Amino acid sequence: MNNKPVQLSQIDRQAFFKELVEQLNRANQFKTKAGLLLIDIDKFHRINDQYGYDVGDRILAKFDELLGTVARQQDCYSRIGDNLFALLLNGILNQGHAELAARKVLRLLEMPFNVAGNELHLQATISIALCPTHARDARYLLNKSEQVLLAAKNSGLKVAVADEAGSDEFSENWEMEMSLSRALNNDELHVYYQPKVDILKQRVVGAEALLRWKNAARGFVSPGVFIPLAESTGLIKPITNWVINTSLRQAASWPDRHGSQSVSVNIPPDFLLMPDFVDMVRNALKLWGSPDITLTLEIVERSLVTQVEQTIHVLHELRDMGVEISIDDFGTGYSSLSYFEKLPVNELKIDQSFVFNLLENAHNRSIVKLVIDLAHAFDLKVVAEGVEEQQITDYLRQLGCDVVQGYLYAKPLPQDDYVKWLKTIEL
Ligand code: C2E
Ligand code: CA
Ligand code: CA
Repeated sequence: MNNKPVQLSQIDRQAFFKELVEQLNRANQFKTKAGLLLIDIDKFHRINDQYGYDVGDRILAKFDELLGTVARQQDCYSRIGDNLFALLLNGILNQGHAELAARKVLRLLEMPFNVAGNELHLQATISIALCPTHARDARYLLNKSEQVLLAAKNSGLKVAVADEAGSDEFSENWEMEMSLSRALNNDELHVYYQPKVDILKQRVVGAEALLRWKNAARGFVSPGVFIPLAESTGLIKPITNWVINTSLRQAASWPDRHGSQSVSVNIPPDFLLMPDFVDMVRNALKLWGSPDITLTLEIVERSLVTQVEQTIHVLHELRDMGVEISIDDFGTGYSSLSYFEKLPVNELKIDQSFVFNLLENAHNRSIVKLVIDLAHAFDLKVVAEGVEEQQITDYLRQLGCDVVQGYLYAKPLPQDDYVKWLKTIEL
């Protein structure tokens, strides 16, 4: 990540929007909050009329600088209209945090601007909309903030915050739900693959199947946005069934250059207790199973803590079918490692949040070391995800970590590109 806030020059609504999409994808993936502030300079045309466009432009440039003093290094800001600025606050704790930033901007405006011998006072109206409270999707968040800004200007409010759970959130979800329900039949869903690399044997051992939704109107929608929606509407069941079948079918045609492979599919929390889940997996294996491919199911810790006896029974049934179980996002949930003694689990994936800053953060280093040692004591394989730098791989190897996954090796790739990658990669 950059050390400075991203600042986009000139009026560039599109570039800001692109950045907004990316940042919100990240916020949704890591379940953090973000606040979008739109800042409209009041009656700016009067300054242009009175002092000329040159003075007007210089004032806007100064205002841009001033926003830079409010933005923190993880934030992003840009001029997105004639006298309209946007500031995206990443990783805020609550609405108060965004309001504080808005007040800070207004306070800075209390000082006059000195331009070409003129002392000018600016006033602004600021609207605030939060992700995920008001919208998760960039288009909706921006729309929402624009509506609130318009309403604030009409009513003379200086700072206005979007309503909680307004009708818009409903229509965002509803519209998205409708298009998601058509996505499967319209061939809008795709499985991408991200390799898992054994760093002791220097060999590709498999890939994680990651779902992508490409919709004509919305472009790529992040799984962080549509998976929770699919889960809350029941669409997740046919979708998961499709992912299991598709990834087994596609994995069967991976080149055999790297020896036997596993394909890992993400399984939502309540699935293990669904009466027909085991049959769903059995049928997929019957149709597409191949002796060189092991199916691995990635489940989160929380799947294991309810109805433990029943869960253990299902895990044994799956194991008898040759399916492996991986605990995803390990370290973010509840379970203690000793718990795994009872469970037929094969692999533990250390959550990315421990891996990203492994080299700088001594606390994370000790957690990772502890997890690796204990996992090995229980005969579990350890996978570290989110590896973006070679030094992190080197360090993880020293700690005895078995497998890594991350952008350092490859981003998730569509089947054709993944096959090409497998054919050409030299580790
Ligand atoms: P996850 O299971 O923890 O998947 C790992 C996520 O980390 C993926 O995000 C992957 O693209 C990303 N990632 C991998 N390496 C790196 C790296 O080096 N740096 C960074 N910054 N990110 C990295 P993605 O594909 O956006 O998926 C997000 C989440 O959505 C997944 O988290 C998973 O919980 C869920 N998901 C994805 N596909 C499916 C699916 O088919 N079914 C279900 N139920 N959930 C899915
Ligand atoms: Ca996963
Ligand atoms: Ca994970």
